[in-house]
Amino acid sequence: MIEVAVNGYGTIGKRVADAVCKQPDMRVAGVAKTRPNFEASAAVKKGFDLYAAIEERKHRFEEAGIEIAGEVTELVEKSDVVVDACPSGVGADNVSMYRRYDTPALLQGGEDAEAVDASFNARANFEAVAGADIVRVVSCNTTGLSRLIAPLREAYGVRKVRVTLVRRGGDPAQSNRGPINDILPNPVSLPSHHGPDVNTIFPDLSIDTLGLKVPATLMHMHSVNVTLGSQPNAEAVRELLEAERRTFVIPEWLGLEGAGAITELAQDAGRPRGDIWENCIWGESLSMVGPDLYLFQAIHQESDVVPENVDAIRAVLETTSRERSVERTNAAMGLDEPLTPTRM
Ligand code: NAD
Repeated sequence: MIEVAVNGYGTIGKRVADAVCKQPDMRVAGVAKTRPNFEASAAVKKGFDLYAAIEERKHRFEEAGIEIAGEVTELVEKSDVVVDACPSGVGADNVSMYRRYDTPALLQGGEDAEAVDASFNARANFEAVAGADIVRVVSCNTTGLSRLIAPLREAYGVRKVRVTLVRRGGDPAQSNRGPINDILPNPVSLPSHHGPDVNTIFPDLSIDTLGLKVPATLMHMHSVNVTLGSQPNAEAVRELLEAERRTFVIPEWLGLEGAGAITELAQDAGRPRGDIWENCIWGESLSMVGPDLYLFQAIHQESDVVPENVDAIRAVLETTSRERSVERTNAAMGLDEPLTPTRM
């Protein structure tokens, strides 16, 4: 069994911990929290051993009546791998601790690529992180783009990618985020950081990205144009993307008009927390104009990186192949169970 520590038990950390629990070859060694709050309470209820991330604040857990198993350094030392899901920047600060205890660690997309030995996406570069010490599971947007670009490159070649990312202002629980009633070019100057981030996965890819922020919390939306190396018809591209394991090509008959309806679909399908682990690509939007492919896809920012973290654990520890890992992760999480009764 791979013993997995989760340091930073928030939006991403709690989802990764749940996904790890479901894997036949992994268990959660413990989770580290900075303070007792509703998420600490949920961790205890799930039976996870709780470790204090900040020694001086240990007493706060005791005062709240929450039992602590130890300090984060003890958790790091006894684990085979750490998933660090701390807020952006904190993960990089933690790297020296992981190196000190010689425990490989997975950081998240909010960290700079320079803070890590390699960046990871299961579909695109699983093998590239074998044996690495500090790896970054790329952001939700970069994960969504990498899953799309990898099969297109393999099937047709890609000459140029252009993406406009309409980004949610914050996650549902981030009450301090905005905009509240505005539409922001963000960043206002080109390129947005997303293109260079995709280049950490595909270094030779020509990609331009623009970003906006809107007052929404549900998902990100990508307006994508890919100039392909050949000219397949739209139906062939659709079949290619339907055959992928972490893309969901939305059938027209579902009548999913936006992110809100996708979220409802996931909740109706019984997905935990209404999570949508796949890229959601509108089938009707898939169009070819000469060598140019156009499409819209929605990305659930809180959950698409979760199966990627699970695969990254096996990739770093070199316990199995990409195909086997993805198959195992999907089966254990229920990602292979279609969101709809039939895939059309
Ligand atoms: P979050 O704020 O929801 O969770 C972070 C957790 O870490 C919180 O519980 C916080 O209390 C805890 N924490 C803070 N300092 C800590 C420390 N020193 N030690 C241990 N725990 C500490 O953040 P999140 O949304 O889960 O983001 C985590 C990482 O994942 C970031 O790099 C982020 O960019 C990335 N990410 C976030 C999303 C998203 O949409 N939420 C998507 C993909 C990637």
